[in-house]
Amino acid sequence: MDLLHSQLAVLQQKLSFVATDPIDWKFYVQAFSWGVTLFESYLLLRQYPLYSKTSPPEVLADHFDAKAFTKSQNYGKDKAKFSLVTGLFKQALDSAMLHYGLYAFAWDMGGRMIAYFGYGSEYEILQSLAFAIVLFVISSIPSIPLSAYQTFVLEEKHGFNKTTPTLFVTDLLKSWAIGFIIGMPFLAAFLYVFGWAGDRFVPWLMAFLLAFQIIMVIIYPTVIQPLFNKLSPLKEGELRTRTESLATKLKFPLKHLYEIDGSKRSSHSNAYFFGLPWSKHIVIFDTLIKESKPDEVEAVLAHELGHWYHMHPTKLLCVSQVHIFTILAMFPAFLHAPQFLRAFDFSEASLCPPTNHRCILAIPEAIIGIGLNFLSRQFEWEADRFACEIQERLSAPEMKDMGERLSRALITLHVKNLSTLWVDWLYSAYHHSHPTLTERLKALQAFQAKMDSAAKKEL
Ligand SMILES: [Zn+2]
Repeated sequence: MDLLHSQLAVLQQKLSFVATDPIDWKFYVQAFSWGVTLFESYLLLRQYPLYSKTSPPEVLADHFDAKAFTKSQNYGKDKAKFSLVTGLFKQALDSAMLHYGLYAFAWDMGGRMIAYFGYGSEYEILQSLAFAIVLFVISSIPSIPLSAYQTFVLEEKHGFNKTTPTLFVTDLLKSWAIGFIIGMPFLAAFLYVFGWAGDRFVPWLMAFLLAFQIIMVIIYPTVIQPLFNKLSPLKEGELRTRTESLATKLKFPLKHLYEIDGSKRSSHSNAYFFGLPWSKHIVIFDTLIKESKPDEVEAVLAHELGHWYHMHPTKLLCVSQVHIFTILAMFPAFLHAPQFLRAFDFSEASLCPPTNHRCILAIPEAIIGIGLNFLSRQFEWEADRFACEIQERLSAPEMKDMGERLSRALITLHVKNLSTLWVDWLYSAYHHSHPTLTERLKALQAFQAKMDSAAKKEL
């Protein structure tokens, strides 16, 4: 522990210029965030002409009829236009908020709010909570009409929207209420640990955040998800038998098998698993069950269990610990840095708690996001490969066509979701956490061919 703290002290020494040098931080944050937005707009402009292609990629030519292809192209075009406009709009708004010192304004307003109830600025945690509420209200209002447009105009036009206006409003209120119920105690506890641990806050806050993540893994599916969707036990039948037998063969600790009414809001579909290491739950979307045959859904689950087998969620949790550590380790340099806080229009610099530093977080987050997408795509390849090779792993010849089944299921999902078929490589590398359908089908064919030739050699 002492080694850690001495290393952290060295880092702080290196970063000490933050406290002393008059750097125009606001300018750099503005320049960086505009840079990101303009780059994203450029990517959309690279991608946009691909929506005018008149036929699907060769590997997919047999699976998409002209009508389905045209529909997916039109959907993609509309989504791209929407993203371009909303991206620039949100950036302009964020930029204006930063320029006019809205963070400092929200902080002062938080102070006035608690003063109204008789608390002074020595109640730093209370003021931080009020600050977070003010900031949330100001920043979420402009996004409501955008989200309503997306649901009721864009998705509606292409036949995906199942949300009613009542559902839209109750969903919004519910998610705010949950955010408030979880977010406020979380923030208060975070700030308390921060204040209590003093200069040695890094390991304490990491332990606190890890505990929070684990608690969320438990309560999200059991408490929060049921507020929005109905999970019901999967009916007896071929799919249930197949799934249970697959789980048993792989020694996957399956506790419950659910069907989720994803179709209540949207026709986009999928499957996922969750739970603690010794007790897992699998959830399949009703839309996936409706659109694919049981043996194809089984292949989708084989892919999902590949994520489990290769411990992808655990690996992601470790990566997120490194991510948190990096941010926390840099943090003290910015904490009591009057120059830095002044750059964001804060007046009472010495009193500003950590919540006020979120303005600069956008920079590391954007870079980390790209790295995470890259990692996630590697995991998808690995899970696809797992599904293909499952027959070998389980010595189950009846599963030798798992790759083909997965391909069929993926194609069906893409047709139903009107997913984009032509994807610009740079656009995909930046935005997509999954490889494109064309890439996946090619890889699945290659895995399958390798398995087949290995099987022939054995004969
Ligand atoms: Zn996956």
